[in-house]
Amino acid sequence: MDIKEMLEKLREKINFHSYKYYVLNAPVISDYEYDQLFDELKSLEAQHPELITPDSPTQRVGNELTGGFKEVAHSVPMLSLENTYSSEEIYEFDKRVKKESEDSPEYVVELKIDGTAVALTYRNGKLFQGSTRGNGNTGDDITHNVRTIKSVPLVLQKTNDESLLNIEVRGEVFLPKKSFEQCNIEREKAGEPLFANPRNAAAGSLKNLNPEVTSKRGLDIFIHTSPYPIKNTHYEALKTMEKIGFKINPETKVCKNIEEVVDFCNSWEDRRKNLPYEVDGMVIKVNSFDMQRKLGATGKNPKWAIAYKFPATEVTTILEDILLQVGRTGIITPVARLKPILLAGSTISRATLHNADEISRKDIRIGDTVFIKKGGEVIPEVIKPVTENRTGKEKIFKMPDNCPVCKEKLVKYENEVAWRCENLQCPAQTQRRIEYFVSKNAMSIEDLGEKVVSRLMDAGFIKNAVDIYKLKDRRAELIELDRMGEKSVDNLLAEIEKSKNIELEHLIFALGIRHIGVHTAKLLAKSFTGIDELKSATLEELTEIREIGEIVAKAIIDFFKSEENCEIIEELRKAGVKLYRDKKVSIGEKFTNKTFVLTGTLAGFTRDEVTEIIEKEGGRVSSSVSAKTNFVLAGEATGSKYDKAKKLGVKIITEEEFREMIR
Ligand code: NAD
Repeated sequence: MDIKEMLEKLREKINFHSYKYYVLNAPVISDYEYDQLFDELKSLEAQHPELITPDSPTQRVGNELTGGFKEVAHSVPMLSLENTYSSEEIYEFDKRVKKESEDSPEYVVELKIDGTAVALTYRNGKLFQGSTRGNGNTGDDITHNVRTIKSVPLVLQKTNDESLLNIEVRGEVFLPKKSFEQCNIEREKAGEPLFANPRNAAAGSLKNLNPEVTSKRGLDIFIHTSPYPIKNTHYEALKTMEKIGFKINPETKVCKNIEEVVDFCNSWEDRRKNLPYEVDGMVIKVNSFDMQRKLGATGKNPKWAIAYKFPATEVTTILEDILLQVGRTGIITPVARLKPILLAGSTISRATLHNADEISRKDIRIGDTVFIKKGGEVIPEVIKPVTENRTGKEKIFKMPDNCPVCKEKLVKYENEVAWRCENLQCPAQTQRRIEYFVSKNAMSIEDLGEKVVSRLMDAGFIKNAVDIYKLKDRRAELIELDRMGEKSVDNLLAEIEKSKNIELEHLIFALGIRHIGVHTAKLLAKSFTGIDELKSATLEELTEIREIGEIVAKAIIDFFKSEENCEIIEELRKAGVKLYRDKKVSIGEKFTNKTFVLTGTLAGFTRDEVTEIIEKEGGRVSSSVSAKTNFVLAGEATGSKYDKAKKLGVKIITEEEFREMIR
């Protein structure tokens, strides 16, 4: 193939994907893969500038018009941004900017919101028109849909500067992560194809021909650009826009130099996972409008701004098989075996499929090309299949009738999505239970990783969690075991010994009682002196503990009803595991065995502070008043708890009296 042909093929491919992405909002490759194609085209064109055509994707803003909408001509073109993936490229950008200026330029760095660009125009302080970026020069009129976004002001705030009432602003319409998930759940239910990411969902929603549908999606907006200078700098413009009612992203920062820029960009790579909306990079803008003017723009990008993109979190790959994992409680989780692919710095070959219902709802088949996403969680997940790539050879997944490990018949309860193996002796479950027992938040025996547990089980050393405490009697045999030298055996045995004195909260967690996570285990460890007291607690005593409801309380009672569980506890006791809390944990004893209920607002403490004080003194804070309540601590504006306390004759104390008690 000659260069000309190669370029044509590449352009055709990119145009196809642009159409899928911008017009249909249904991409079939990930952004990362698209950007790679785009970079390939850019570098080929750089080597052969004579072959650049005006309609090449590198020469124009990527969007197309959708049809079905009135067209709007933009008075100032709405451009795209040049993308970079490395800090070196940010430094190069700084060098290019510095060529145009003598002073050291100041930059404004903003989050790059993963949404879709809109322009909003106001006349006499009222929203007049909303439009998409379209092809950069002309966009779609989406005024009706924009009006449904609650954060778009329909009327601007009063201002002394009349010129601001006839303003144009640009921003990013986006779908918060939660709304995106909800939107896809609803599409699944309606049998509609899923959106690949919040950006496509936002763009799709904004271009829905029915504003009623748009209004239900939960769209939001951040304004990030004023196409006409307001005051002298971009930052001043942002602040002014904020004053007249626009929503500006609060994480924006003015940086004095490029080092500060790079530092700020890097600081968001991890932090962005905690944001309620998707961010795919940072946008770096020259702050001074004068300098922006001097730098100008190409047909596609302004030269005074650049986008720094974070490593991709989404890719497409082939789902080669669906494997079944048996969990600690017997739940069977389908896991995708993937054609290995690099994603966010690591090679991914497995991703969770959650459950069988989800596989069929999303119509994911073995052999499909699928979108994989690495989100806040450690395990990547399969988002959706690319149905366009199907050849007809893909296989529909069916949950087997029997457990893949012990062959017991699988069961599924009404109102539950999970299939379960109910054989408590199932070796896979036993192994998971042991792994859980020794995990970090439980007995924390680091050297007992998955592989070691499996080896010890296979060699017959351990059959359940308690057996690990018998390993010390078999030191010599362990040393003989394949790949377990003397030193590692001694380290392991020392770690096991140490775990016998673990704090009560970790032991409670390690027992694997249903619904008891790290936090609840901590609450229980504060409220009870040890496992024996917990075992004999009644439903009422348990539900009196703040944050513990009936479901959790019942799970605890059920756990101790099981003879098998009680035997395990006795064996742990025999092995020398400490089943009670250290005395020193209860710092004070002022409120030992006393139960408090809080009502109303306190002037000098937050509820958490009061709770901490009471708990440190050995007391408990309960959420409801009963005859067993010792004190109701009443602040301002008390409610029904106060009335109930009066009725039951429970002692009511004021904040002042409480202070007196703890003095
Ligand atoms: P872009 O998304 O890379 O960057 C420009 C846009 O960023 C602006 O138009 C604006 O809407 C937005 N933005 C967000 N926050 C901003 C802020 N604070 N300040 C200024 N702008 C902000 O460029 P693009 O032209 O919209 O899209 C190109 C990208 O789309 C490609 O890099 C690729 O990742 C993706 N794409 C993917 C496919 C696919 O098939 N997967 C196809 C086409 C394009």
